[in-house]
Amino acid sequence: MGRLVMKFGGTSVANLDRIRNVALHVKREVDAGHDVAVVVSAMAGKTNELVEWCRDASPMHDAREYDAVVASGEQVTSGLLAIALQAIGVQARSWQGWQIPIRTSDAHASARILEIDGGELISRFKDRKEVAVIAGFQGISPQTGRITTLGRGGSDTSAVAIAAAIHADRCDIYTDVDGVYTTDPRVVPKARRLEKIAFEDMLELASQGAKVLQVRSVELGMVYNMPIFVRSSFDKPEDIDPHGTPPGTLICSEEEIMENHVVTGIAFSKDEAQISVRQIEDKPGVAASIFGPLADANINVDMIVQNVSEDGKTTDLTFTVPASDYGRARDTINSAKGKIGYARLDSATDVAKVSVIGSGMRSHAGVAAKAFGALAARNINIRAITTSEIKFSVLIDAAYTELAVRTLHTLYGLDQV
Ligand code: ADP
Ligand code: ASP
Ligand code: MG
Repeated sequence: MGRLVMKFGGTSVANLDRIRNVALHVKREVDAGHDVAVVVSAMAGKTNELVEWCRDASPMHDAREYDAVVASGEQVTSGLLAIALQAIGVQARSWQGWQIPIRTSDAHASARILEIDGGELISRFKDRKEVAVIAGFQGISPQTGRITTLGRGGSDTSAVAIAAAIHADRCDIYTDVDGVYTTDPRVVPKARRLEKIAFEDMLELASQGAKVLQVRSVELGMVYNMPIFVRSSFDKPEDIDPHGTPPGTLICSEEEIMENHVVTGIAFSKDEAQISVRQIEDKPGVAASIFGPLADANINVDMIVQNVSEDGKTTDLTFTVPASDYGRARDTINSAKGKIGYARLDSATDVAKVSVIGSGMRSHAGVAAKAFGALAARNINIRAITTSEIKFSVLIDAAYTELAVRTLHTLYGLDQV
């Protein structure tokens, strides 16, 4: 007997049939004797629709009201799943974030979980054998007393945080793929499923664009050493042996991983924009005059490259920002033009960042160099590069994303044989 969190994403609860299928998965674990807390997302596409409605209502809407609207998708699926469970004889009750409560910061639309009281859920496992069906993605801010949401993809984070709060043995993330792959299997059919992946590698994959898990959920998994198991919700519930090992990927600490490849996986993101500030006088303080105002505006700068301008005397500074901050970033630089003193601002939004990740890079030299040659052979121009201990990223034209990912996937021996 153990205690489990089972999280189901949007495609897994997309309609009533799928919700009934989820109920059978939950029943299987309950019948096996486990205490179960379920975390659900909104139906696939629902959150996008709600976000759109807020934008249509007013482009400059109040973040507290945005949260009130977008949190509603999970309210519906948690109630429906509790009904579906009761209908097949499983004792179940739905919970909204504020009812548990899941206390978060007051950063509406991207709140962080501060504290969860798991006491009531645990006593209901003991006293009533009751399954808790929890609305993912949402919480409550003690400061504002209002509903908050955790940023897109946030139900993963709800699930891992709940797992820690109720001292679960494992957090199962059921989704529309049967695990974490060496890269997005929808883009590279030759991608290989990983049996295990270290928290650190998964953290990089998620931060660099693999949306299979929200970054914060992996951080929490690492902090609480909570094993996270990514698996498919499309397997037939009756075909699964609750005591066997189903296909999936375990995210765990590095020590538990025997095989160590230099490269673990490749991630990519098209949500990038490049800005080049041309012909700046090359003197101390210039970088501060550009990046200071961007930091003040809460804009995250990622890659940075400095090189000599075409006139051979001044310097160019190129950097990337999230595509959603592109307009604001340009406005911020434009307003600081007097202080910075540049000739021209160039920018591009049709760019993509491709990142190669592997904790094995720590002990291997020349891993990135190989990639530059392979991309050049495909005529893919690199606009910027960044490296860290366990990853490197290149910025390229978005049109070449798939080609670049496939090329690197083969280069590092990740293709399925
Ligand atoms: P859910 O709605 O269940 O939360 P998401 O759509 O958020 O599911 O995440 C699952 C998707 O993540 C998959 O359908 C897949 O296309 C994508 N994905 C991106 N990178 C990877 C990867 N390395 N391994 C597995 N899936 C990935
Ligand atoms: N429904 C939310 C979203 O689409 C949260 C989640 O699915 O994890 O972002
Ligand atoms: Mg998701």
